Amino acid sequence: MAYDTNNIFAKILRGEIPAFKVYEDAHALAFMDVMPQSDGHTLVIPKQAQAENFLDIQPADLQHLIVATQTVAKAVDKAFAPDGMRIIQFNRAPGGQTVFHIHFHIVPVYEGMELRGHSRDMAPKELLAAHAAKVKAALA
Ligand code: AMP
Repeated sequence: MAYDTNNIFAKILRGEIPAFKVYEDAHALAFMDVMPQSDGHTLVIPKQAQAENFLDIQPADLQHLIVATQTVAKAVDKAFAPDGMRIIQFNRAPGGQTVFHIHFHIVPVYEGMELRGHSRDMAPKELLAAHAAKVKAALA
């Protein structure tokens, strides 16, 4: 399957649709997942690489992406002080992937709280904005 330049994350990168952005560098962009599995659920995507998943991304692009993911994960950890954290990445639709521009999920885990479903319920915009502000403050 060829990379689809009209996937929703490509549109976010082109500024065609909004996102609750928290971090950006030369190679990566991070923003809040709009259907968070837990408070603080953040996504990290490559800016230039037109890769669908872990299997087709160029190694150099993957290096930038994983380092940016660690940077943002540390900020999420500082901002939300979760008990644990999952770094998740899905490949191809049968593997659970729904947006075909490679991304890492940063999912805080809170003891005694079940994670919400993957891509299930849209969070209120005000809440996502407040969570983005917390992550940005932790990165400052
Ligand atoms: P995946 O299933 O790994 O491809 O994950 C895609 C993720 O993107 C899901 O967790 C969705 O909740 C999330 N998502 C979908 N559309 C948007 C959007 N416009 N902004 C932020 N997150 C999104």
